[in-house]
Amino acid sequence: MNIAVVLYTSDLRLHDHPPLRAALSSCDRVVPFFVRDRAIEASGFPAPNRQAFLADCLADLDAGLRERGGRLVVRSGDVVAEVCALVQEADADEVHMAAGVSAYAHAREERLRTALEAQGRRLYVHDTVVTAVAPGAVLPAGSDHFAVFTPYLRRWSDLPLRAPAPAPRAVPVPPDIGSEPLPSRGDVTGTSPGLARGGEREARRLLTHWLRAGITRYEDVHDDLAGDATSRLSPHLHFGTLSAAEAVHRSRAAGGSGAEAFVRQLCWRDFHHQVLAARPAAVTEDYRPRQDRWRTGSAAEEEILAWKEGRTGYPVVDAAMRQLAHEGWMHNRGRLLAASFLAKTLYVDWRTGARHFLELLVDGDLANNQLNWQWVAGTGTDTRPNRVLNPVRQGLRYDPEGRYVHRWVPELAGLAAPRVHEPWRLTGLERARYDYPEPVVELADGLDRFRRGRDGE
Ligand code: FAD
Repeated sequence: MNIAVVLYTSDLRLHDHPPLRAALSSCDRVVPFFVRDRAIEASGFPAPNRQAFLADCLADLDAGLRERGGRLVVRSGDVVAEVCALVQEADADEVHMAAGVSAYAHAREERLRTALEAQGRRLYVHDTVVTAVAPGAVLPAGSDHFAVFTPYLRRWSDLPLRAPAPAPRAVPVPPDIGSEPLPSRGDVTGTSPGLARGGEREARRLLTHWLRAGITRYEDVHDDLAGDATSRLSPHLHFGTLSAAEAVHRSRAAGGSGAEAFVRQLCWRDFHHQVLAARPAAVTEDYRPRQDRWRTGSAAEEEILAWKEGRTGYPVVDAAMRQLAHEGWMHNRGRLLAASFLAKTLYVDWRTGARHFLELLVDGDLANNQLNWQWVAGTGTDTRPNRVLNPVRQGLRYDPEGRYVHRWVPELAGLAAPRVHEPWRLTGLERARYDYPEPVVELADGLDRFRRGRDGE
């Protein structure tokens, strides 16, 4: 009897899962395996919101496997040691897993390959599990990755995608392989009160609903902060409860300009993954250094705290930061303007903002978070690195009725738009009616700091 181990990482699903399919076609039995990796836990990366979401995903994966005659085996420790121990215990011939893009994922793959080969077993690493198109599948002449999005999008769009595979009917698992109890969402403390539910079933329900009721209007409404009319699939794409390739495939089948705009966003995801795969140091280092002299010191610290707590005095920035704290998720337009406010107006190092986002975001993802932060800060792939988003104009444009601000900044609920975006203009008794802070900085002063700090402009 041939046995394979399927090592799950960021791909917690049964549908459209190349490692599981390959294992089932070459072996009689498989052991679906998840390691609660001590190294990742020690790094502090698994913030409470993601831990809780992960617990949902593991429970749902286990339930789906049980419906097919299998189950999920979970253990804690060093991932390589745990896989090697399981392979010996089950007398497995091969291990299948998804390719990752981070430096850690590359090192994990190498360590696993070496350790398994020393035991006479083989590691199969499958690409297009985490992304729709594998990093490196399209390359510009003379470089190991695309640094500009539009030419990447053109080449990416021309590539044929594999057809999404259904979930297997049966997953036969060898008997007598012990598992730790699965982690439970209820055991995680410090989560956001409005945190979304995880798991493949929820991902598929959301996608189906999105394709039926949301995608058609996406192009027109995706920037409407109050409308909240984006797919909210990001945590599912991050944990792999939804296959990116399947999301592209089914969106294209839906057709229309909404679907085209949505697929473009999925391409942004692949774009950042291929940048990170080629430049893993971009997690912490400027992709394009601009000789920034970021502000530090006690004044900057106070402003950072006001930003984190949603009391900068700029209503739309504060609304976005409070949505992040409450839901562990933020609208893309909110992310753009809140990040621009920190990195450009306050002129604080993007790493400070990226770290705070990773502490809260349920979709917090090294490729998407760090490279979007770098894009906004102008140290990344933006071809206009010095653009600064004005929070008042952003508010007037993307929250014209002030509903997003009213939802998240209830102190200003009685103040109608457009004035809700500039409460500091109120005077006398009217000003006194609203218990809301003064701006932490004048916008003109912020712009001046940024220009003086960057490139000595
Ligand atoms: P939709 O608008 O429905 O888009 C569909 C999918 O496309 C998303 O789920 C996401 O996977 C992908 N996508 C959309 N926009 C982008 C983008 N700009 N870059 C890469 N992929 C994109 N996204 C994350 O998944 N994790 C992060 O940690 C993250 N951090 C961000 C930090 C900053 C400062 C900024 C500006 C953006 C960040 N994004 C991140 C990208 C984007 O904001 C979210 O993917 C999006 O808001 C998720 O909501 P949605 O699923 O409803 O998106």
